[in-house]
Amino acid sequence: MELKKFLSIPVSAALFTMGFVYYMTVFIFIEDWVGLQTSTGSLNNIIFSSMASLCLLSFLVGVLTDPGRVPLSYIPDVEDSSFASYQETKKNVLQSKTCDKCAAYKPPRTHHCRVCKRCILRMDHHCLWINNCVGYWNYKAFFNLILYATIGSIHATVIVINCMRQKDWNSSGTTPLKFFYLACGAMTLALSVTLGTLLGWHIYLITHNMTTIEYYEGIRAAWLAKKSGLRYRHPFDLSIYKNIALVLGPNPLKWFCPTSTSHLKDGVSFPTLRDSP
Ligand SMILES: [Zn+2]
Ligand SMILES: [Zn+2]
Repeated sequence: MELKKFLSIPVSAALFTMGFVYYMTVFIFIEDWVGLQTSTGSLNNIIFSSMASLCLLSFLVGVLTDPGRVPLSYIPDVEDSSFASYQETKKNVLQSKTCDKCAAYKPPRTHHCRVCKRCILRMDHHCLWINNCVGYWNYKAFFNLILYATIGSIHATVIVINCMRQKDWNSSGTTPLKFFYLACGAMTLALSVTLGTLLGWHIYLITHNMTTIEYYEGIRAAWLAKKSGLRYRHPFDLSIYKNIALVLGPNPLKWFCPTSTSHLKDGVSFPTLRDSP
């Protein structure tokens, strides 16, 4: 059962952090800043709670969704352009597209995860915080998770700063209280910077239709191509809009819904530059 994925220290720590930041922002800082009953307080509460709910939903989808299992019936199509873009001969294609550990064929963009002990379709990386691989079926939920977590952290930081600025520390400030406010501000700021950097990285990857693994493979491929006087281009990088549509879906309104994955196909074949006119 997938529920056992929650029995992990990083997953518990992530859930605890979400709960702590939520409680602290709404019930301590918004309350202390303007009060939850005021129009400013309730507006901030509605916006922050919506981001927190979407963040939690994306987290649960990311943890519980199978990232992508290679179908047992999968046999590589050696004429497929996804393969052809990598290799020249059929023998090479089959050799390079077999997983020794699973003793099975590996579709393009599939990698073996040592933690999950199986091959994962369009594997990005194994994420400790969701105790799951980030692959074909849950990449969108993972992206939505870091998107909402970044927005929520920045919003929480702004609320903490506003609260500290308007507080009359001479009459109400005691040293432990000051320390608590500063520690909370430092925590939300650190989360904003860390998650924001991760978000920027994944926006770069999505707009180039690349996974983290492919980015590092690409560095080596580009070096080898340069040595031969050629220019390497990532074979799945079609155009910015097509790349985003392939990962997040063709409808921009659904880019922000972690459960909307009807645009995903089977995860064993992908359009490449060669398919493009
Ligand atoms: Zn494998
Ligand atoms: Zn894994």
